[in-house]
Amino acid sequence: MVRFGYHVSIAGGISKSFDYASEIGCTSMQIFLSSPRTWALERSSPEEKRRFLDKTTTCDIKPIFVHMPYLPNMASPKEEVYEKSIKIMSDIIEECATLSIPYVVAHLGSELGTGKENGIKRVVSAINKIKKKNNGVSILLENQAGQKNSVGSYLDDLKEIFDNVNTDEKGFCIDTCHLFAAGYDITKKEVIEEIRDKIGFDNIKVIHLNDAIYELGSKRDRHECIGKGSIGVEGFKKFFSFKGVNKMNFILETPREDKTEELEELSLVKKLIS
Ligand SMILES: [Zn+2]
Ligand SMILES: [Zn+2]
Repeated sequence: MVRFGYHVSIAGGISKSFDYASEIGCTSMQIFLSSPRTWALERSSPEEKRRFLDKTTTCDIKPIFVHMPYLPNMASPKEEVYEKSIKIMSDIIEECATLSIPYVVAHLGSELGTGKENGIKRVVSAINKIKKKNNGVSILLENQAGQKNSVGSYLDDLKEIFDNVNTDEKGFCIDTCHLFAAGYDITKKEVIEEIRDKIGFDNIKVIHLNDAIYELGSKRDRHECIGKGSIGVEGFKKFFSFKGVNKMNFILETPREDKTEELEELSLVKKLIS
């Protein structure tokens, strides 16, 4: 069964995310664990955790993905930022383990002009510090859009990080808007085969399904609603037609305005996948 859903709000407590996601018909979802704009993880109360755990068994919404906050930068050459990033990522992984959340999506950050190889080394050693033991929570490396100094925008770089991280609890989160912005035309069979051959479909635990505002290779990370951007309805139809693609989990992070738009977008996605 193909599962898909939105990144949904946790306003009012993390367990509330289930209510809204169910209401709009999501079968999977992504959340932040607390405000994505702070350096400290705000942990949920034991009661809220219990409510969340109850819903993981009563609602058919799985898998659940947690997205890391915006401030950490695991590729940073600045010691203070780097250490703080390792700390909050460790806290998030630990918190996910207590909530039975299997996946944390990680942005690989910016090397701030120190060079790609340096950035990759930095990220690898950060993840090796974060994942000291297996605890049921996998860290998913997300591809970036090719922005200046970004780490992990290209398949070879993602693969290098993946291969050098010494935990089995790892995988990829592949964002369609980021692929397109980085120059990968996801409507072409050879591009999909390159993804399969370089990083392996089995290692892709989620696809961030986003259209792109700008053109192929723009190197700009700006999401658009499905079908309304440069990839477009025909582009996504083509993308889903490739073998293996339509068996993945999909999470949308599109700039929809309200529930009506969400329902329309989800029904379009359902139609395109089937
Ligand atoms: Zn992301
Ligand atoms: Zn993005």
